[in-house]
Amino acid sequence: MALSTKVGNTSQTETAPEVRLPQASPMYSATGLDVWTMMNQVAASVGAVNLGQGFMSYPPKDFIRQAAQDALVENTHNQYAPPRGRPGLLEQVAVRFSERLGRDIDSGSEVSVHAGANEALLSVFTAFLEHGQDHEVILMEPAFDQYTPNVAMAGGIPVYVPLRVRDGCDAATHDISSDDWRLDMAELEAAITPKTRIIVLNTPHNPIGKVFTRDELALIGAVAECHNLLIVADEVYEHLTFGRNHVSIATLPRMWERTVTVGSAGKLFGVTGWRVGWAVGPAALIRPTLAAHTRIVFTSNTPLQEGVASALRQAAHNGFFTIQCEEYLRRRNRLIAIFADIGLPCVVPDGAYYLLVNASAVRARIPTDYAFPDFITERGANFKLVYFFIKEFGVSGIPPTEFYSDAHKDLANDYIRFAFCKTEEGLEAAAERLQTLKQFLRGPAQA
Ligand code: GLN
Repeated sequence: MALSTKVGNTSQTETAPEVRLPQASPMYSATGLDVWTMMNQVAASVGAVNLGQGFMSYPPKDFIRQAAQDALVENTHNQYAPPRGRPGLLEQVAVRFSERLGRDIDSGSEVSVHAGANEALLSVFTAFLEHGQDHEVILMEPAFDQYTPNVAMAGGIPVYVPLRVRDGCDAATHDISSDDWRLDMAELEAAITPKTRIIVLNTPHNPIGKVFTRDELALIGAVAECHNLLIVADEVYEHLTFGRNHVSIATLPRMWERTVTVGSAGKLFGVTGWRVGWAVGPAALIRPTLAAHTRIVFTSNTPLQEGVASALRQAAHNGFFTIQCEEYLRRRNRLIAIFADIGLPCVVPDGAYYLLVNASAVRARIPTDYAFPDFITERGANFKLVYFFIKEFGVSGIPPTEFYSDAHKDLANDYIRFAFCKTEEGLEAAAERLQTLKQFLRGPAQA
């Protein structure tokens, strides 16, 4: 680089030495774009109907927005909250979980408020994993894409056990149920070593929509108990099940003691940008989780904690959760019908707001000379399928292989995840665009 400096009256040009800055840690320098940003960009490039990232394309209900507005104008709501959380929110979370878990939850010791469920998860991992100890964490695949880096940041090693579609299901030609995805208990047992510390359980599950049954949870709980493991239960979709009951593993015998349950106001009220979540569990588990949280973000934002507290107070009596669930069920059924009309089978979800569509028939018809950008090609077959789908049909989804380790990616190569937390108009616009897909599927498969 040439620098022009003035010395006295004479101007002279000198060459500055090459600046060698410290290198970023490989964990961050080697990482490409996250899948959400990448697919939002691909979607925007063709003005696609965005059914990719799981954010709501409609505003929150009036009482929820009003709760935030009221909280924001309150003069006392503009300074730091206590690290554990605002007392009003701790109280409301305790009330909700006392009911859900069937036990009295102490708001002063058994709840902590976080900057979204993501940060609650990072705090638990940070609290219970030690750098340099090779502590292992069992993740069931597909595993939400934040789990792996969060475990690694906390010094742990992820160990993957894939959920597998039951024998006898032909997912490429017929709709299957999210319940057809099963955890092989022998595979789970085989993945456990003396270094295993934690099992992460996500129910209702993103992206499958599986709602683990009490029997399945009992088997997982027995393994956790036998090997003295902590259970981190990511239950951010606890309020969204369709014809099935959500069971918290913390309600099973002897499970409360070893479980931290994580929840999210963003999911509960359709306000994913508020970044308010929580962890609930026995004081012995919440204390270190809170200590980690205090060092990660210190405290989460005050006014929206108050907004969520007020929304929870109102939602306990105004029927909101029932109405919301019915709305999601209608959207789910509409999206399933749209793909049924086209002839692509799906995994009918029992919970959460995602639909896995089996697009093997599309993958088989991608022209062999189709031009993919490098950032897609290097991420494998499933990214190519989703990229092709977005570009050609103008409706975006997420490649679920992003939720897999390399060893198991092939299990999801044929799937595209679509989110149905979207407006009716959005879903109808998608239906209209996908008419061209019908025609495309009549064409011959590539050799
Ligand atoms: N949980 C949402 C999803 O799965 C959003 C994830 C994110 O943007 N990090 O779509």
